[in-house]
Amino acid sequence: MVFLTPDRADDISRRLAQAESLDAVLDVLGEQIAAMKLAEGYLINLTDASGSNLVSLKVSFPGEFRSLEQTTIGRHNPVSDGYLNSRVFQNRSIQSVHIGNASEHERMVLQYWRAKEIVGVPILHPRHPDQAPIGAVVLIEQKDRIDLSTLAPLHEVLRFMYASLSIWLRYSHLDDMREQAAAAVTENQRLLQFLNDMNSLNSVDMIYDMFAAKLLPQLSFDLAAFSLVENDRLVIQKVCTARPELEGMAAEWLIYLQQNPFPLDPSVSGTVLVLSEDKEMLFSDLQALSSMLMAEHDRNVMHILKSPRSLFISPIRHQKKPIGIFVLYSLDKPVSLSEADTHLLQQLSSFLGTAITSSQTYAVSQAQNLEIGHLNDMLQGKVKELAEQASTDRLTGLLNFRSYEREMAKRIKECQRSDSKDAFSLALIDIDHFKRFNDTYGHAAGNDVLAGVAAEISKVIRASDTAFRYGGEEFVVTLPKCDLQGALLLAERIRAAIEAATHQTEGGARNVTVSIGCTVYQSGDTQDTLFARADQALYAAKGQGRNRVCSA
Ligand code: GH3
Ligand code: MG
Ligand code: MG
Repeated sequence: MVFLTPDRADDISRRLAQAESLDAVLDVLGEQIAAMKLAEGYLINLTDASGSNLVSLKVSFPGEFRSLEQTTIGRHNPVSDGYLNSRVFQNRSIQSVHIGNASEHERMVLQYWRAKEIVGVPILHPRHPDQAPIGAVVLIEQKDRIDLSTLAPLHEVLRFMYASLSIWLRYSHLDDMREQAAAAVTENQRLLQFLNDMNSLNSVDMIYDMFAAKLLPQLSFDLAAFSLVENDRLVIQKVCTARPELEGMAAEWLIYLQQNPFPLDPSVSGTVLVLSEDKEMLFSDLQALSSMLMAEHDRNVMHILKSPRSLFISPIRHQKKPIGIFVLYSLDKPVSLSEADTHLLQQLSSFLGTAITSSQTYAVSQAQNLEIGHLNDMLQGKVKELAEQASTDRLTGLLNFRSYEREMAKRIKECQRSDSKDAFSLALIDIDHFKRFNDTYGHAAGNDVLAGVAAEISKVIRASDTAFRYGGEEFVVTLPKCDLQGALLLAERIRAAIEAATHQTEGGARNVTVSIGCTVYQSGDTQDTLFARADQALYAAKGQGRNRVCSA
């Protein structure tokens, strides 16, 4: 007898044409299988997008098992687990299990279903049965063995529906992948945002805070602690909580951890096993472990945290090596972590290690930069001081002989330039009878007078003029853009000012006079010839009775 009569085929075709989802197609197939009355129950399993699992998408179970239908839908079975489903898949042929051929595991399955026989039928391409099946129909028969010849209608219908099934399956795979991709993109964006936020922080403290603030609520933990290995001890860095009401407890915990940095010895705290094994650990239900022998430190922490519920411990890794640990506690709710959560935590633990290390380096280099800045300022000051010392005279504060030579070299060069029309004059000043002054009032008083005379000179000269202590009690003033007449005028003002000035010394107020020799640059002059002429003029001033200005 033909199961697929033209009427039935028509009916199925019409229903498939109207189907708008894989589920609708599976409903049609399920109805046909039920109509065949082949067995008490069935499962329609189709491959997932990766092709490595068979997923139960449509099931109908015998009466007493009906309540299991809902939880069975969506269940994945690897195609390589060696059981019935996978044998059907791999052999591309009907496989049957009954008490006469069942392995120990299969016997248990038969027993569980109270089944006489379980049969798996591959869903094969009608014209290419050598291609991998897209799924399998599993029949569960409780009353009797199944006569395999009665399965002809099932083959017929599977062949008839193959095109629809495979197209709709492929479409649903695409849909799944699209959803997975969208979820992965969102997850990635969240991770990137998180890493970005953390990267912009430059203090370790802020990194811990951000880590805890983002992670604790997301994974339903209440408290976090971060410790780093320092000199073979686990040293607490920071305790955080996202719940304000737990801050007191967090503070108590922090103090305990600060006072008890413990060695890397599992008998002191089991948490250090995470370091030696370099693997995270999750204790979903600590209360179930509370009767176990526990290291003292861990018992104390459990006490402070008032018997917490779940604990997650992870190494903090830098360059793939553990440099510390972070622990997450939930107080009341047992926490279970999905594969994605664990993966996220693993990625973050590496990131955390790098962030901590680089921010420590950053802090150190900030401090170093500051220190270098200070040193630099000091050096700059020192250099300036040394330069001043090298170019000035300490007693009078005027520029010294070295500076005079530099200045003269520069001015002579200017004068020697063919286009230079500017005059350049020189005034040489010498204190009168200064040896006598020293002899009379003492060298210290002489020094005071030298400083006083220098001050008078500085007061009188123009901004473009420069005064130098040439040596002993002799001074030179360079007068750029100044002819001899101008030089004589200025020299006279200097002489008069010094004559008028009184200088306070320890022994009393003293007066001195100076003689000044002036000269102006003449073409062909060198530094020496120019100076020699000024010296001649000075000599003349001395010769004419001192306290006067002469030129040459
Ligand atoms: P004249 O009028 O001819 O210039 O007589 P003078 O005594 O000033 O000349 P002389 O060059 O013979 O003596 C210069 C004196 O200046 C000698 C030295 O005692 C004194 N003198 C030179 N440098 C210093 C100094 O730094 N401090 C003191 N107190 N005296 C100095
Ligand atoms: Mg002299
Ligand atoms: Mg003198």
